[in-house]
Amino acid sequence: IYQNGHLINGFGFKSVGKIPLGLKRKGLRIVVTGGAGFVGSHLVDRLMKRGDSVIVVDNFFTGRKENVMQHFGNPRFELIRHDVVEPLLLEVDQIYHLACPASPVHYKHNPVKTIKTNVVGTLNMLGLAKRVGARFLLTSTSEVYGDPLQHPQVETYWGNVNPIGVRSCYDEGKRTAETLTMDYHRGAGVEVRIARIFNTYGPRMCIDDGRVVSNFVAQALRKEPLTVYGDGKQTRSFQYVSDLVEGLMRLMEGEHVGPFNLGNPGEFTMLELAQVVQETIDPDAKIEFRPNTEDDPHKRKPDISKAKELLGWEPKIPLRKGLPRMVKDFRQRIFGDHKEDIA
Ligand code: NAD
Ligand code: UDP
Ligand code: UDP
Repeated sequence: IYQNGHLINGFGFKSVGKIPLGLKRKGLRIVVTGGAGFVGSHLVDRLMKRGDSVIVVDNFFTGRKENVMQHFGNPRFELIRHDVVEPLLLEVDQIYHLACPASPVHYKHNPVKTIKTNVVGTLNMLGLAKRVGARFLLTSTSEVYGDPLQHPQVETYWGNVNPIGVRSCYDEGKRTAETLTMDYHRGAGVEVRIARIFNTYGPRMCIDDGRVVSNFVAQALRKEPLTVYGDGKQTRSFQYVSDLVEGLMRLMEGEHVGPFNLGNPGEFTMLELAQVVQETIDPDAKIEFRPNTEDDPHKRKPDISKAKELLGWEPKIPLRKGLPRMVKDFRQRIFGDHKEDIA
Protein backbone atom coordinates (compact mmCIF):
# COMPACT_ATOMS: atom_id res chain seq x y z
CA ILE A 1 0.00 0.00 0.00
CA TYR A 2 1.45 3.39 -0.98
CA GLN A 3 0.58 6.74 0.63
CA ASN A 4 2.22 10.00 -0.54
CA GLY A 5 4.76 7.93 -2.42
CA HIS A 6 5.71 5.93 0.72
CA LEU A 7 5.08 2.24 1.20
CA ILE A 8 2.70 1.76 4.12
CA ASN A 9 2.30 -1.73 5.52
CA GLY A 10 -0.78 -3.22 7.13
CA PHE A 11 0.09 -1.71 10.51
CA GLY A 12 0.33 1.81 9.07
CA PHE A 13 4.11 1.98 9.49
CA LYS A 14 6.23 3.81 6.94
CA SER A 15 8.78 1.44 5.39
CA VAL A 16 12.43 2.23 4.86
CA GLY A 17 14.19 -0.64 3.16
CA LYS A 18 12.90 -3.97 4.42
CA ILE A 19 12.16 -3.02 8.04
CA PRO A 20 9.05 -0.92 8.71
CA LEU A 21 9.69 2.05 11.01
CA GLY A 22 8.19 1.39 14.38
CA LEU A 23 8.81 -2.31 13.97
CA LYS A 24 12.57 -1.78 13.87
CA ARG A 25 14.31 -4.58 15.73
CA LYS A 26 16.36 -3.62 18.74
CA GLY A 27 18.48 -6.76 19.09
CA LEU A 28 20.00 -9.12 16.57
CA ARG A 29 18.73 -12.56 15.61
CA ILE A 30 21.48 -14.94 16.63
CA VAL A 31 21.88 -18.70 16.29
CA VAL A 32 24.10 -20.47 18.79
CA THR A 33 24.77 -24.06 17.72
CA GLY A 34 25.79 -26.15 20.73
CA GLY A 35 24.10 -23.48 22.87
CA ALA A 36 22.91 -26.01 25.48
CA GLY A 37 26.51 -26.97 26.22
CA PHE A 38 29.01 -25.57 28.68
CA VAL A 39 30.46 -22.58 26.75
CA GLY A 40 27.37 -22.07 24.59
CA SER A 41 24.99 -21.62 27.51
CA HIS A 42 27.19 -18.91 29.07
CA LEU A 43 27.32 -17.15 25.70
CA VAL A 44 23.52 -17.38 25.42
CA ASP A 45 23.16 -15.76 28.86
CA ARG A 46 25.23 -12.77 27.71
CA LEU A 47 23.38 -12.39 24.39
CA MET A 48 19.98 -12.59 26.09
CA LYS A 49 21.09 -9.98 28.60
CA ARG A 50 22.14 -7.70 25.74
CA GLY A 51 18.61 -7.88 24.32
CA ASP A 52 19.19 -10.13 21.31
CA SER A 53 16.88 -12.86 20.04
CA VAL A 54 18.62 -16.19 20.45
CA ILE A 55 17.95 -19.53 18.79
CA VAL A 56 19.81 -22.44 20.35
CA VAL A 57 20.36 -25.40 18.02
CA ASP A 58 21.52 -28.50 19.90
CA ASN A 59 21.19 -32.29 19.66
CA PHE A 60 21.83 -32.71 23.43
CA PHE A 61 24.73 -35.12 22.95
CA THR A 62 26.69 -33.39 25.71
CA GLY A 63 24.43 -30.38 26.29
CA ARG A 64 21.58 -30.18 28.80
CA LYS A 65 18.27 -28.32 28.82
CA GLU A 66 19.04 -27.30 32.41
CA ASN A 67 21.82 -25.05 31.09
CA VAL A 68 19.35 -22.79 29.25
CA MET A 69 16.16 -23.40 31.24
CA GLN A 70 16.37 -19.92 32.78
CA HIS A 71 15.31 -18.50 29.39
CA PHE A 72 12.27 -20.74 28.83
CA GLY A 73 9.20 -18.55 28.49
CA ASN A 74 11.16 -15.56 27.21
CA PRO A 75 9.76 -14.72 23.74
CA ARG A 76 13.26 -13.78 22.57
CA PHE A 77 14.51 -17.33 23.24
CA GLU A 78 14.03 -20.51 21.20
CA LEU A 79 15.47 -23.98 21.67
CA ILE A 80 15.56 -26.37 18.69
CA ARG A 81 16.56 -30.03 19.02
CA HIS A 82 18.49 -30.48 15.81
CA ASP A 83 21.66 -32.18 14.63
CA VAL A 84 23.84 -29.81 12.58
CA VAL A 85 24.86 -32.70 10.35
CA GLU A 86 21.37 -32.21 8.80
CA PRO A 87 20.57 -29.03 6.81
CA LEU A 88 18.73 -26.26 8.61
CA LEU A 89 16.71 -23.30 7.32
CA LEU A 90 16.55 -20.17 9.49
CA GLU A 91 16.71 -16.40 8.99
CA VAL A 92 19.36 -14.83 11.22
CA ASP A 93 22.01 -12.11 11.44
CA GLN A 94 24.79 -13.99 13.22
CA ILE A 95 25.79 -17.62 13.75
CA TYR A 96 28.00 -18.71 16.63
CA HIS A 97 28.94 -22.25 15.61
CA LEU A 98 29.92 -24.23 18.71
CA ALA A 99 28.21 -27.58 18.13
CA CYS A 100 30.82 -30.29 18.69
CA PRO A 101 31.75 -32.37 21.73
CA ALA A 102 34.85 -30.85 23.35
CA SER A 103 36.00 -33.36 25.95
CA PRO A 104 38.37 -36.07 24.64
CA VAL A 105 36.18 -38.73 26.31
CA HIS A 106 33.11 -37.47 24.44
CA TYR A 107 34.70 -36.85 21.05
CA LYS A 108 36.44 -40.24 21.04
CA HIS A 109 33.16 -41.97 21.93
CA ASN A 110 31.99 -41.87 18.29
CA PRO A 111 34.87 -40.51 16.19
CA VAL A 112 33.03 -40.74 12.87
CA LYS A 113 30.17 -38.71 14.30
CA THR A 114 32.68 -36.17 15.63
CA ILE A 115 34.30 -35.63 12.25
CA LYS A 116 30.89 -35.47 10.53
CA THR A 117 29.83 -32.81 13.03
CA ASN A 118 32.98 -30.82 12.33
CA VAL A 119 32.93 -31.17 8.56
CA VAL A 120 29.29 -31.63 7.44
CA GLY A 121 27.91 -29.63 10.38
CA THR A 122 30.22 -26.70 9.66
CA LEU A 123 29.47 -26.92 5.92
CA ASN A 124 25.73 -26.70 6.63
CA MET A 125 26.08 -23.71 8.94
CA LEU A 126 28.31 -21.96 6.36
CA GLY A 127 25.71 -22.74 3.67
CA LEU A 128 23.11 -21.15 5.94
CA ALA A 129 25.34 -18.10 6.53
CA LYS A 130 25.84 -17.72 2.78
CA ARG A 131 22.11 -17.99 1.98
CA VAL A 132 20.96 -15.39 4.51
CA GLY A 133 24.09 -13.17 4.57
CA ALA A 134 24.79 -13.86 8.26
CA ARG A 135 28.14 -13.40 9.95
CA PHE A 136 29.61 -16.77 11.00
CA LEU A 137 31.94 -17.48 13.93
CA LEU A 138 33.72 -20.84 14.26
CA THR A 139 34.91 -22.05 17.65
CA SER A 140 38.07 -23.87 16.68
CA THR A 141 40.58 -25.15 19.19
CA SER A 142 44.18 -25.05 20.38
CA GLU A 143 44.22 -28.72 19.31
CA VAL A 144 44.83 -27.53 15.73
CA TYR A 145 48.43 -27.02 16.96
CA GLY A 146 48.58 -30.73 17.88
CA ASP A 147 51.62 -31.63 20.00
CA PRO A 148 53.22 -28.25 19.32
CA LEU A 149 56.87 -27.79 18.42
CA GLN A 150 56.57 -24.04 19.08
CA HIS A 151 55.93 -22.67 22.54
CA PRO A 152 53.88 -20.63 23.29
CA GLN A 153 51.66 -21.11 20.25
CA VAL A 154 51.19 -18.18 17.85
CA GLU A 155 48.38 -18.11 15.27
CA THR A 156 50.92 -18.29 12.42
CA TYR A 157 52.17 -21.70 13.63
CA TRP A 158 50.74 -24.49 11.43
CA GLY A 159 50.86 -27.19 14.05
CA ASN A 160 52.10 -30.74 14.53
CA VAL A 161 49.08 -33.00 14.17
CA ASN A 162 48.79 -36.75 13.73
CA PRO A 163 46.26 -37.30 10.90
CA ILE A 164 45.54 -40.93 11.82
CA GLY A 165 45.51 -40.84 15.62
CA VAL A 166 42.70 -41.21 18.14
CA ARG A 167 42.40 -37.42 18.50
CA SER A 168 42.33 -36.78 14.74
CA CYS A 169 38.53 -36.84 14.47
CA TYR A 170 38.60 -33.71 16.62
CA ASP A 171 41.79 -31.86 15.71
CA GLU A 172 41.79 -32.69 11.99
CA GLY A 173 38.01 -32.12 12.04
CA LYS A 174 38.52 -28.61 13.41
CA ARG A 175 41.35 -27.95 10.96
CA THR A 176 38.99 -28.86 8.10
CA ALA A 177 36.29 -26.67 9.66
CA GLU A 178 38.77 -23.76 9.59
CA THR A 179 39.56 -24.52 5.94
CA LEU A 180 35.85 -24.56 5.02
CA THR A 181 35.34 -21.31 6.88
CA MET A 182 38.12 -19.57 4.93
CA ASP A 183 36.93 -21.07 1.63
CA TYR A 184 33.39 -19.72 2.15
CA HIS A 185 34.94 -16.40 3.09
CA ARG A 186 37.19 -16.18 0.02
CA GLY A 187 34.90 -17.98 -2.41
CA ALA A 188 31.43 -16.83 -1.42
CA GLY A 189 32.15 -13.60 0.46
CA VAL A 190 30.71 -14.90 3.75
CA GLU A 191 31.75 -12.74 6.73
CA VAL A 192 33.60 -15.11 9.04
CA ARG A 193 35.47 -15.15 12.34
CA ILE A 194 37.70 -17.91 13.73
CA ALA A 195 38.52 -18.39 17.42
CA ARG A 196 41.09 -20.95 18.59
CA ILE A 197 40.00 -21.73 22.11
CA PHE A 198 42.40 -23.03 24.76
CA ASN A 199 41.29 -25.19 27.73
CA THR A 200 38.34 -23.50 29.39
CA TYR A 201 36.64 -24.35 32.70
CA GLY A 202 33.78 -23.06 34.82
CA PRO A 203 30.28 -23.76 36.12
CA ARG A 204 28.06 -26.08 34.00
CA MET A 205 30.89 -28.28 32.73
CA CYS A 206 29.69 -31.87 32.56
CA ILE A 207 30.67 -33.38 35.89
CA ASP A 208 31.96 -36.65 34.48
CA ASP A 209 33.24 -35.50 31.11
CA GLY A 210 36.79 -36.67 31.75
CA ARG A 211 38.44 -33.27 31.31
CA VAL A 212 41.11 -32.61 33.85
CA VAL A 213 39.58 -29.68 35.76
CA SER A 214 36.13 -31.28 36.04
CA ASN A 215 37.73 -34.61 37.02
CA PHE A 216 39.93 -33.15 39.77
CA VAL A 217 37.16 -30.95 41.20
CA ALA A 218 34.60 -33.78 41.26
CA GLN A 219 37.17 -36.21 42.70
CA ALA A 220 38.25 -33.83 45.48
CA LEU A 221 34.62 -33.13 46.42
CA ARG A 222 33.80 -36.86 46.48
CA LYS A 223 36.92 -37.60 48.56
CA GLU A 224 38.38 -39.70 45.76
CA PRO A 225 42.04 -39.49 44.71
CA LEU A 226 42.93 -37.00 41.95
CA THR A 227 43.86 -39.00 38.84
CA VAL A 228 47.03 -37.55 37.29
CA TYR A 229 47.79 -39.07 33.87
CA GLY A 230 51.40 -39.83 32.96
CA ASP A 231 54.04 -38.08 35.05
CA GLY A 232 51.82 -35.00 35.47
CA LYS A 233 54.49 -32.73 34.01
CA GLN A 234 52.51 -31.96 30.83
CA THR A 235 51.13 -28.41 30.83
CA ARG A 236 47.88 -26.66 29.97
CA SER A 237 46.65 -23.07 30.32
CA PHE A 238 43.23 -22.73 31.91
CA GLN A 239 40.78 -19.99 31.00
CA TYR A 240 37.67 -19.09 32.98
CA VAL A 241 34.52 -19.27 30.87
CA SER A 242 33.40 -15.62 31.25
CA ASP A 243 36.74 -14.46 29.81
CA LEU A 244 36.20 -16.70 26.78
CA VAL A 245 32.64 -15.45 26.21
CA GLU A 246 33.85 -11.84 26.28
CA GLY A 247 36.53 -12.74 23.71
CA LEU A 248 34.04 -14.52 21.42
CA MET A 249 31.66 -11.55 21.44
CA ARG A 250 34.44 -9.04 20.77
CA LEU A 251 35.63 -11.20 17.89
CA MET A 252 32.13 -11.46 16.40
CA GLU A 253 31.49 -7.71 16.68
CA GLY A 254 34.98 -6.67 15.51
CA GLU A 255 36.42 -6.27 12.03
CA HIS A 256 39.02 -9.04 12.04
CA VAL A 257 38.61 -12.55 10.64
CA GLY A 258 41.33 -14.19 12.73
CA PRO A 259 42.21 -16.84 13.64
CA PHE A 260 42.62 -15.55 17.19
CA ASN A 261 43.94 -17.53 20.14
CA LEU A 262 41.53 -17.11 23.07
CA GLY A 263 43.04 -18.51 26.24
CA ASN A 264 44.69 -17.65 29.52
CA PRO A 265 48.49 -17.67 29.23
CA GLY A 266 48.88 -18.83 32.86
CA GLU A 267 50.52 -22.25 32.36
CA PHE A 268 50.27 -25.12 34.87
CA THR A 269 51.56 -28.68 34.98
CA MET A 270 48.85 -31.20 35.89
CA LEU A 271 50.61 -31.69 39.24
CA GLU A 272 50.42 -27.93 39.89
CA LEU A 273 46.74 -27.99 38.96
CA ALA A 274 46.20 -30.84 41.42
CA GLN A 275 47.88 -28.69 44.06
CA VAL A 276 45.57 -25.72 43.37
CA VAL A 277 42.57 -28.07 43.64
CA GLN A 278 43.91 -29.38 46.96
CA GLU A 279 44.33 -25.80 48.26
CA THR A 280 40.82 -24.87 47.11
CA ILE A 281 38.86 -27.95 48.19
CA ASP A 282 40.72 -30.41 50.35
CA PRO A 283 44.41 -30.22 51.39
CA ASP A 284 44.26 -33.95 52.24
CA ALA A 285 43.15 -35.03 48.75
CA LYS A 286 45.39 -37.86 47.50
CA ILE A 287 47.02 -38.06 44.08
CA GLU A 288 46.93 -41.27 42.03
CA PHE A 289 49.03 -41.69 38.89
CA ARG A 290 47.43 -43.34 35.84
CA PRO A 291 48.85 -44.20 32.40
CA ASN A 292 48.46 -41.29 29.99
CA THR A 293 46.24 -41.36 26.91
CA GLU A 294 47.62 -41.65 23.38
CA ASP A 295 48.90 -38.55 21.55
CA ASP A 296 48.53 -36.32 24.61
CA PRO A 297 50.11 -32.92 23.80
CA HIS A 298 53.04 -32.18 26.15
CA LYS A 299 52.68 -28.42 26.38
CA ARG A 300 50.07 -25.84 25.62
CA LYS A 301 50.07 -22.10 26.20
CA PRO A 302 48.56 -19.39 24.02
CA ASP A 303 50.36 -16.36 22.72
CA ILE A 304 47.51 -13.84 22.91
CA SER A 305 49.33 -10.74 21.56
CA LYS A 306 47.07 -10.67 18.48
CA ALA A 307 43.82 -10.69 20.46
CA LYS A 308 45.22 -8.08 22.86
CA GLU A 309 46.18 -5.76 20.04
CA LEU A 310 43.27 -6.18 17.61
CA LEU A 311 40.35 -7.08 19.93
CA GLY A 312 41.52 -5.21 23.03
CA TRP A 313 40.91 -8.45 24.91
CA GLU A 314 42.74 -10.34 27.62
CA PRO A 315 41.56 -12.73 30.31
CA LYS A 316 40.79 -11.23 33.73
CA ILE A 317 40.24 -14.24 35.98
CA PRO A 318 43.23 -16.31 37.14
CA LEU A 319 42.84 -20.00 38.04
CA ARG A 320 42.81 -19.39 41.79
CA LYS A 321 39.88 -17.00 41.42
CA GLY A 322 37.90 -18.96 38.84
CA LEU A 323 38.20 -22.39 40.43
CA PRO A 324 36.18 -21.55 43.58
CA ARG A 325 33.26 -20.38 41.38
CA MET A 326 33.26 -23.70 39.59
CA VAL A 327 33.58 -25.62 42.86
CA LYS A 328 30.45 -23.92 44.16
CA ASP A 329 28.47 -25.08 41.11
CA PHE A 330 29.89 -28.63 41.26
CA ARG A 331 29.18 -28.89 44.99
CA GLN A 332 25.54 -27.95 44.40
CA ARG A 333 25.14 -30.37 41.51
CA ILE A 334 26.91 -33.28 43.23
CA PHE A 335 25.43 -32.89 46.72
CA GLY A 336 22.40 -30.66 46.07
CA ASP A 337 23.98 -28.47 48.77
CA HIS A 338 22.92 -24.82 48.71
CA LYS A 339 24.46 -23.71 52.01
CA GLU A 340 28.03 -23.21 50.82
CA ASP A 341 28.70 -19.79 49.30
CA ILE A 342 32.31 -19.56 48.20
CA ALA A 343 32.28 -17.28 45.16
P1 NAD B 1 30.13 -29.07 25.25
O1 NAD B 1 30.29 -30.51 24.93
O2 NAD B 1 29.70 -28.68 26.62
O3 NAD B 1 29.15 -28.36 24.23
C1 NAD B 1 28.98 -28.79 22.90
C2 NAD B 1 27.50 -28.68 22.56
O4 NAD B 1 27.31 -29.07 21.19
C3 NAD B 1 26.64 -29.61 23.41
O5 NAD B 1 25.51 -28.92 23.87
C4 NAD B 1 26.26 -30.73 22.42
O6 NAD B 1 25.04 -31.35 22.76
C5 NAD B 1 26.22 -29.98 21.12
N1 NAD B 1 26.44 -30.83 19.94
C6 NAD B 1 27.41 -31.74 19.74
N2 NAD B 1 27.29 -32.31 18.53
C7 NAD B 1 26.21 -31.74 17.93
C8 NAD B 1 25.56 -31.90 16.68
N3 NAD B 1 26.00 -32.78 15.78
N4 NAD B 1 24.46 -31.14 16.41
C9 NAD B 1 23.98 -30.26 17.32
N5 NAD B 1 24.56 -30.06 18.53
C10 NAD B 1 25.66 -30.79 18.82
O7 NAD B 1 31.54 -28.38 24.91
P2 NAD B 1 32.04 -26.90 25.18
O8 NAD B 1 33.19 -27.00 26.10
O9 NAD B 1 30.93 -26.01 25.52
O10 NAD B 1 32.62 -26.53 23.74
C11 NAD B 1 31.94 -25.69 22.84
C12 NAD B 1 32.79 -25.45 21.60
O11 NAD B 1 34.04 -24.84 21.97
C13 NAD B 1 33.14 -26.72 20.84
O12 NAD B 1 33.07 -26.46 19.46
C14 NAD B 1 34.55 -27.01 21.24
O13 NAD B 1 35.25 -27.70 20.24
C15 NAD B 1 35.11 -25.60 21.44
N6 NAD B 1 36.24 -25.63 22.38
C16 NAD B 1 36.04 -25.77 23.72
C17 NAD B 1 37.13 -25.83 24.58
C18 NAD B 1 36.97 -25.99 26.06
O14 NAD B 1 37.98 -26.10 26.77
N7 NAD B 1 35.77 -25.99 26.60
C19 NAD B 1 38.43 -25.73 24.06
C20 NAD B 1 38.59 -25.60 22.69
C21 NAD B 1 37.49 -25.54 21.86
N1 UDP C 1 22.41 -25.38 3.89
C1 UDP C 1 21.67 -25.33 5.06
N2 UDP C 1 20.86 -24.25 5.26
C2 UDP C 1 20.75 -23.22 4.39
C3 UDP C 1 21.56 -23.26 3.22
C4 UDP C 1 22.38 -24.37 3.01
O1 UDP C 1 21.70 -26.22 5.89
O2 UDP C 1 20.04 -22.28 4.66
C5 UDP C 1 23.27 -26.54 3.66
C6 UDP C 1 22.98 -27.21 2.33
O3 UDP C 1 22.08 -28.27 2.56
C7 UDP C 1 24.33 -27.73 1.88
C8 UDP C 1 25.35 -26.92 2.67
O4 UDP C 1 24.60 -26.09 3.55
O5 UDP C 1 24.50 -29.09 2.27
C9 UDP C 1 26.20 -26.05 1.78
O6 UDP C 1 25.37 -25.16 1.10
P1 UDP C 1 25.85 -24.40 -0.20
O7 UDP C 1 24.69 -23.63 -0.72
O8 UDP C 1 27.09 -23.67 0.05
O9 UDP C 1 26.26 -25.57 -1.17
P2 UDP C 1 25.42 -26.51 -2.15
O10 UDP C 1 24.04 -26.69 -1.56
O11 UDP C 1 25.41 -25.77 -3.43
O12 UDP C 1 26.20 -27.77 -2.16
N1 UDP D 1 44.45 -35.38 32.65
C1 UDP D 1 44.84 -35.84 33.90
N2 UDP D 1 43.89 -36.41 34.70
C2 UDP D 1 42.57 -36.50 34.35
C3 UDP D 1 42.18 -36.01 33.07
C4 UDP D 1 43.15 -35.46 32.25
O1 UDP D 1 46.02 -35.76 34.28
O2 UDP D 1 41.78 -37.02 35.14
C5 UDP D 1 45.46 -34.71 31.79
C6 UDP D 1 45.50 -35.17 30.35
O3 UDP D 1 46.37 -36.26 30.19
C7 UDP D 1 46.02 -33.93 29.64
C8 UDP D 1 45.51 -32.78 30.48
O4 UDP D 1 45.12 -33.34 31.74
O5 UDP D 1 47.42 -33.91 29.65
C9 UDP D 1 44.31 -32.04 29.88
O6 UDP D 1 43.34 -33.00 29.52
P1 UDP D 1 41.85 -32.59 29.11
O7 UDP D 1 41.17 -33.86 28.72
O8 UDP D 1 41.23 -31.76 30.16
O9 UDP D 1 42.01 -31.62 27.85
P2 UDP D 1 42.93 -31.64 26.53
O10 UDP D 1 43.75 -30.41 26.67
O11 UDP D 1 43.77 -32.86 26.50
O12 UDP D 1 41.95 -31.58 25.44
